[in-house]
Amino acid sequence: MRSQDYDRLYLSPPHLGRHELNYVHKAIEDNWVAPAGPNITGFEADICAAAGVAHCVALSSGTAAIHLGLILLGVGPGDEVLCPSFTFVATANPIVYLGATPVFLDSEPDTWNLCPVRLREAILDRISKGRKPKVLILVHLYGMPTKLTELLAIAQEFDIPVLEDAAEALGARFNNQPLGSFGRVGVFSFNGNKILTTSGGGALVTNDAALAQQARFLATQAKDDAPYYQHSQVGYNYRLSNILAGIGRGQMELLDERVKRRREIFAWYREHLAGLPGLTVALHPEPAGSRANRWLTTILLDPQESAATPETLRLHLETRNIESRPLWKPLHLQPLFAAAPMYGGAVCADLFARGLCLPSGTAMGDNELRRVKEALAETL
Ligand SMILES: *Cc1c(COP(=O)(O)O)cnc(C)c1O
Repeated sequence: MRSQDYDRLYLSPPHLGRHELNYVHKAIEDNWVAPAGPNITGFEADICAAAGVAHCVALSSGTAAIHLGLILLGVGPGDEVLCPSFTFVATANPIVYLGATPVFLDSEPDTWNLCPVRLREAILDRISKGRKPKVLILVHLYGMPTKLTELLAIAQEFDIPVLEDAAEALGARFNNQPLGSFGRVGVFSFNGNKILTTSGGGALVTNDAALAQQARFLATQAKDDAPYYQHSQVGYNYRLSNILAGIGRGQMELLDERVKRRREIFAWYREHLAGLPGLTVALHPEPAGSRANRWLTTILLDPQESAATPETLRLHLETRNIESRPLWKPLHLQPLFAAAPMYGGAVCADLFARGLCLPSGTAMGDNELRRVKEALAETL
């Protein structure tokens, strides 16, 4: 962070611990400055342990992991992939990389994630048009578990493999099982704004040894098993460096602590913002069995009760040097995806119109949280 921004409260800045530098130091001392080495092996083992999966491939980004995951699940030109509309664009971009088409689905109001009713409706409609979807992507937005019981049952009924985009959900659980471990392929992101970071990085996880091996192969230029450079397939350069994996190892030691603090921050906001007119933080409670990581605390405004909009609030917070952001703009409303099929849309459009993400970084103390509350109270 730049020194003149000392007072600025960011949405979700990196929060380093005390051990990252040791791992990076060791990598440099040992000359393991390559996209291979002991930090990568260690980081992958840490992720397997945290996510409760058998295999992990550390990659250069979460987007790369989604791209490879879709390839592993057989997506190619002309295919259709089911995807929630209410998510970050990186969930859907890799569908387009492959010449496939996203089919977007609305959210349900409880978790804001993909609606099971829309899912069944869309699958039946696509099948009736002779276009059975190839893959279903599930996303746990803001670290809130999606309705896994209902959604996985539908995927199984129609025999559609699931890619679980858990980029925002590291450390969250459903029925005490870590998110990321429910799909045939799971994806994590270690981008700078996520709950843990390697500055940039990602991971693909799976319980299927053959899929993991294939992911590793594709991520390293798809080099055939020959003494010279022979290639039979298109490959990618998607491996993580051993230096960045060192940062990741230090960060993984902190996962439980960081989830605990994010949850405390959510609880603080819910308690202290409760009296402000027109504002509902508690609107996003955890359904039974769900344990969110509360990556970002989000608020919704009630236009009946307050003239403030997310944008007037955001601009006011900005005058107090506090960063906030609108919720993700639904993908079916993006110019990029104007032509893509969409089922429903009113729920996520309403969330986008009324919602704002508040500073949720784990390095914040109660003084910083009070600053956010005071700035909000000034406009509400
Ligand atoms: C951050 C994010 C990604 C992409 O991860 P990168 O590591 O930034 O490529 C994908 N999906 C969701 C939902 C995300 O929030």
